[in-house]
Amino acid sequence: MIPFSPPRIDDRTVKAVEEALRSGWITTGPRTKEFERRLAAYCGVDRVVALNSWTNACELVLRWFGIGPGDEVIVPAYTYCATANIVMHVGAKPVLVDVLDDFTMDPDAVRRAINPRTKCIMPVDIGGLPARVPELVRIAEECSPLFTPAVNLRVAGSNPQMRLGRALVLSDAAHSFGARIDGRAVGAQADITGFSFHAVKNLTTAEGGALAFHLPEPFDPEELYRHFNTMSLHGQSKDALAKTRPGAWRYDVEFPGWKCNMTDLQAAIGLVELDRYDHDTLVRRRAICDRYDAAFAADGRFLVPTFSDGGRTSSHHLYMLRVREAEEAQRDAIIDAIARREVSVNVHFIPLPLLSFYKGQGHRISDFPNAYAHYSREISLPVYYDLTDQQVDQVVDAVKEAVSEVLG
Ligand SMILES: *Cc1c(COP(=O)(O)O)cnc(C)c1O
Repeated sequence: MIPFSPPRIDDRTVKAVEEALRSGWITTGPRTKEFERRLAAYCGVDRVVALNSWTNACELVLRWFGIGPGDEVIVPAYTYCATANIVMHVGAKPVLVDVLDDFTMDPDAVRRAINPRTKCIMPVDIGGLPARVPELVRIAEECSPLFTPAVNLRVAGSNPQMRLGRALVLSDAAHSFGARIDGRAVGAQADITGFSFHAVKNLTTAEGGALAFHLPEPFDPEELYRHFNTMSLHGQSKDALAKTRPGAWRYDVEFPGWKCNMTDLQAAIGLVELDRYDHDTLVRRRAICDRYDAAFAADGRFLVPTFSDGGRTSSHHLYMLRVREAEEAQRDAIIDAIARREVSVNVHFIPLPLLSFYKGQGHRISDFPNAYAHYSREISLPVYYDLTDQQVDQVVDAVKEAVSEVLG
């Protein structure tokens, strides 16, 4: 059986976690701080805060920006539910837009959706290919006359909506750590970029996430970093590490914050992952995708994914193959036939309007023809470091046989 996406855990990972366990410090501490510094250097930004998931990290961003009831956040119909769920958590409304042929958010659809209630735009780098983030930032700037900031909002002494004066661009980069736009790593394009280090992602800490700050002046990255740390620790003015200094026991609570800090055990895994990311992990992932391309690109029955286009380079997170002529039920039958050949595949993603909750909110899949056309024909193939060339060939054979079996 070929699994879909097991994490890369080897002696080096185990040793790093063991060292952290034996160090006497297992919650947020020196390893987390080191991980944050290294992530910031990698992304080319001043500050990154590491937290316990993409979901909690990005939900904090919506709360920090003061997004709530009456506000709208634009998200693509084609994404994982987390992107829209966090909008529901803060009481705002996710406004769905369709995607382009490369699975990323359609900037023209975003422009049409912007109105005075729009507080945030959340593009998603599906499969690792960056969305058109610089263009979306430009659209947010051009539409700033429509932006209507909340007047009575105060966060750490100032009003972030008044300060920015336009919709916030929060990038869902859960798939795209290490992807590039115009030669620069993802993280330095959107106002804030959210990464996921969940077990199936390119770079993992078992569970985890991070925010890269790239807000324009007069936002101060140090102040943002401090504030998000405080938000992630109950609004407490000192973290556990700061309180260990002799006599430094007293703390205050500035507001009723949340609890979503990263532990040093997670950061220990992340530091190993980061160390070998560019020259090893990404190299292998690219080679696997190239091998799939060589097998599928010239076969007219398939549409292969885009890994680089117009200055954007993917992190090769998913291999999102599409079977040109398949209807949804046939795609499902093809997946069954692949499973009988001992290969695990997946579908990324079921568009939001097809999920009971979002359907119940009145979203209709017929309004998102591209999302449906992509979803109904899509099959994601295994991509992970330990997948061998021979296994890649096995996957290719299983997929081609399954398609012949179902479509004739
Ligand atoms: C994995 C994923 C998330 C959520 O990440 P967590 O770290 O599990 O919270 C969000 N968006 C997309 C597109 C994802 O694939």
